[in-house]
Amino acid sequence: MKCLICGSDASSEVCNKCIRLEKIIYQKEWVSKEGGLIKKSEDFRVAISNLRISGRVSISDNPKGTNAKLDNFSHYLMNVRECSQVTYGGKKTLMVTVENKGEGAYTRYCFLPGFDEGDQFVNAIFDAKTKAASLTERIRQSSGMASTPVEVTQTVASSDFNLNAAAQAAAATPRPAAPAPTPAAAPASSDTVALAGIATDISEFETKIKKLKVLRDNGILSEEEYEAEKKKLVSIF
Ligand SMILES: [Zn+2]
Repeated sequence: MKCLICGSDASSEVCNKCIRLEKIIYQKEWVSKEGGLIKKSEDFRVAISNLRISGRVSISDNPKGTNAKLDNFSHYLMNVRECSQVTYGGKKTLMVTVENKGEGAYTRYCFLPGFDEGDQFVNAIFDAKTKAASLTERIRQSSGMASTPVEVTQTVASSDFNLNAAAQAAAATPRPAAPAPTPAAAPASSDTVALAGIATDISEFETKIKKLKVLRDNGILSEEEYEAEKKKLVSIF
């Protein structure tokens, strides 16, 4: 399987290299009674990061939830097609539709029984998708992959959710594809070793690594200092 972000070999939709850039934006664990006649308490969880949606939910291959199975799941966030409120097990339940149109195409319906933070959840998905789109573009650019801008698609199918302003605007007007970010030119001056502050993306990371190399090559940083600064940078990411 190929990583949906950078295209390198991966054991799941997102490869380990890309997963290193993951930041959790929302997570929740809860307990709900599941089953037919004999109801059993089951643990559920969901997490939304700037790259993936994952957790343990009821998963089905059809939107009615027939033969749904409680299982772990992990998908590339941009494959979340929509969230909607449906009737599942006789109760109003949040359903997340995940669709992969690429290689091994599938549609998966994930049910979150007894989950009561629908608004926070859909807003977090919107926020995370915006971040995932720009992160994906940057990863692809830095790995030399020809990249068409990643579109942040609308996530909500029903009016059952209260969207925040940004998500609402996106839902009302399909967002035009974001312009490709122009990489910041590395400053010529190397008189400061200003590496404070958390770098937020790969281009920043690369700029900083380049800067460190310049400092080392000019004898401003010793080999040891260079390695130490590099380690610090890597740990930030
Ligand atoms: Zn990858």
